[in-house]
Amino acid sequence: MKIVIPGGTGQVGGILSRTLIARGHDVVVLGSRHHPTKAVTGTVSEVVTAHQRNDNMLELRPTCENCNKPLPPDSTEARICSFECTFCASCVDDVLTNVCPNCGGGFCPRPIRPTTAWNGAAHLGKRPASTQITHRPVNAAAHALFAASIRQLPPEQR
Ligand SMILES: [Zn+2]
Ligand SMILES: [Zn+2]
Repeated sequence: MKIVIPGGTGQVGGILSRTLIARGHDVVVLGSRHHPTKAVTGTVSEVVTAHQRNDNMLELRPTCENCNKPLPPDSTEARICSFECTFCASCVDDVLTNVCPNCGGGFCPRPIRPTTAWNGAAHLGKRPASTQITHRPVNAAAHALFAASIRQLPPEQR
């Protein structure tokens, strides 16, 4: 019998996995990205890390939320906040002054998902970018008021 165990590399999951393996079951462990194989010994048939599952990944939104400029997955102009509010670099610099209008946090360049299948399903072909456009133009005057005090603080102090 094939049994899938979420968290099977954790303490409880690891004990459960080993018990089931000892009983002759075919165990598939859903690991965490921190401990993809820790604590599991025996004949686990497959360890699926977070990168190879559908969850725990960036949406890679298709456009800038303010100006709607296309930001394809390989764009080096895409910027995201910690909630993945997505803007182009020029909007972040010129309109937002590195203050997210939704959360007040700062922005970083969005990582680029590899197109090459270096490791299992963890690539753009299997985990494609979102096609759902979020276009909510920012009111520049209102944002300037919102950001006036926030922008004085570096993101790590907000
Ligand atoms: Zn933009
Ligand atoms: Zn945000």
